[in-house]
Amino acid sequence: MLLFALVFYLIFARFREQACTFICPYGRFQSVLLDEHSIVVAYDHKRGEKRGKLHRSETADQRRATGLGDCVDCHQCVAVCPTGIDIRNGTQMECVHCTACIDACDATMDKIGRPRGLIRYASLNGIEKGDPRGEFIQLQLTRTKGELGKEQAHRESALLRKHQALWLGELGAVLDNQNYPRLGPARPHAHCDVWP
Ligand code: SF4
Ligand code: SF4
Repeated sequence: MLLFALVFYLIFARFREQACTFICPYGRFQSVLLDEHSIVVAYDHKRGEKRGKLHRSETADQRRATGLGDCVDCHQCVAVCPTGIDIRNGTQMECVHCTACIDACDATMDKIGRPRGLIRYASLNGIEKGDPRGEFIQLQLTRTKGELGKEQAHRESALLRKHQALWLGELGAVLDNQNYPRLGPARPHAHCDVWP
């Protein structure tokens, strides 16, 4: 117990993010298990690029007309990252999925009046082809925080109605008419309430 405490004290006091980057095996496993369907903390490059500073009184339409996206290059996502990476460069081995960059970017989007979610849970397919699972997970996480608005709740139900058969596949037959509240973060509100 003493040895365990000492090791963890050294990690948190001296090595900190170095432990995540060089010792923790999570990133190594992640890098070989991911594909374009995997849902990870991701930057929506289609919406964000081309990045550039926001000029005073510039509207979103004016910004688009100059070829700029929603990323205003504020660097908040980089500043809060415990492992010091820039998630805008794509999924990286050092990312521990702490989601601090999501909160930082959402705060920036709130300030400039653009929709949240420029950095969010999403797959590459989700960003490039519109796979809605990342959006559904984000809504379920918002629900667990007790912050789900009425419109978001409707959107969550609509996504579940539309896609649950596809997401569950053969599992659907097994889960039909069953409730498994502990398999998903949200309280059950439909006959299927599992992680997609
Ligand atoms: S999820 Fe955490 S570790 Fe990963 S890029 Fe964002 S802030 Fe960094
Ligand atoms: S926090 Fe958002 S807007 Fe700011 S640099 Fe990062 S991705 Fe761009």
